[in-house]
Amino acid sequence: MSAAGHGAAVRIEACGKTFADGTRALDPATLDIARGETLVLLGPSGCGKTTMLRIIAGLELPDPGGKVLFDGKDMTSVPIERRNVGMVFQSYALFPNMTVADNIGYGLKIRGVPKQERAARVAELVALTNITGLENRRIDQLSGGQRQRVALARAVAIRPGILLLDEPLTALDAALRDRLRGELNRLLRALGITTIYVTHDQAEAMELGDRIVVMRKGAIAQIGSPREIYFTPKDRFVAEFVGAANIIEAPIENGALVLPGGRLQVDGNATAPRTIAMIRPETIRVMEPVGGSLSGIIDSVSFVGDRLRLVVSGASGKLLNVDAPNTIQAKAGDRIGLSVAPESIRLLPED
Ligand code: ATP
Repeated sequence: MSAAGHGAAVRIEACGKTFADGTRALDPATLDIARGETLVLLGPSGCGKTTMLRIIAGLELPDPGGKVLFDGKDMTSVPIERRNVGMVFQSYALFPNMTVADNIGYGLKIRGVPKQERAARVAELVALTNITGLENRRIDQLSGGQRQRVALARAVAIRPGILLLDEPLTALDAALRDRLRGELNRLLRALGITTIYVTHDQAEAMELGDRIVVMRKGAIAQIGSPREIYFTPKDRFVAEFVGAANIIEAPIENGALVLPGGRLQVDGNATAPRTIAMIRPETIRVMEPVGGSLSGIIDSVSFVGDRLRLVVSGASGKLLNVDAPNTIQAKAGDRIGLSVAPESIRLLPED
């Protein structure tokens, strides 16, 4: 595909950031992003995601000692306009009085790309981002989803080596966000540009990221593939931030968690007066009252379409969230049995 860019490899080396007022936004971090990879920076508000992105963009200098390298070349003091990066923000930052086509072609125009080539590139991107027919509209005549597509097309028009996206879907309603997320995923794969994507939405991170960097209070909490982050979170913060998680504190005897509603076998043979275990709601199986290794009473049942979310008391010491198939008969007050495979129970370090 001729719109395909050549992704650059990115390395940030010991990049920390302390702002003039003394705010420590980022502890020194080192991170390698492969050519063509989509890396998601995920974390709660204020954890330093945008600061890291701005350092990569050249909008912010890291503290002394920090370095930004593109394909091994030191870019730390190169200004943004000479870094060959495309950026998309939550606010579209488009030119409201220009047409869609002129917005998309703007970066090409100021780079002196001839008119005919510009038109061809714009046409290609219009098709790629699903906005055919809107080329001559002004930005203020577009919906939010359409504006975000234009912003994306404009950012990739210059064939950047690196695409930086800061919560680009946050301003959109939930259904549109889901659809655009799928489209964006296909677009990023087709273009092969190295992409760094900031979000606090774990579903977005899971779908888009080749790898996810979970951040907390200016530090990297964990780096891994979506599966690694989801199934083997390093600590309680990552477990609870990514997906739904039951966190259970209990003693462990000969490899079994000792709980009010029974015993749950874990991998290994540990004995300890107190452990912290994580169990994802969808890994818990609902059975007849006498069938499971754990027994409890249904506190509430919510029908959420593709499944039932049960809240169970008396099983784990606190309320346990259980995802059950939407076909089972279950009501509040019922006694049920529960079972969990040992490999679905993850022991976490103490906080
Ligand atoms: P959000 O999801 O809310 O955008 P974030 O994870 O992107 O959050 P950053 O914008 O990187 O967080 O901010 C990290 C910390 O640095 C915050 O405590 C923020 O208030 C602070 N901060 C950001 N910019 C500045 C600045 N120019 N001067 C002082 N402090 C700043």
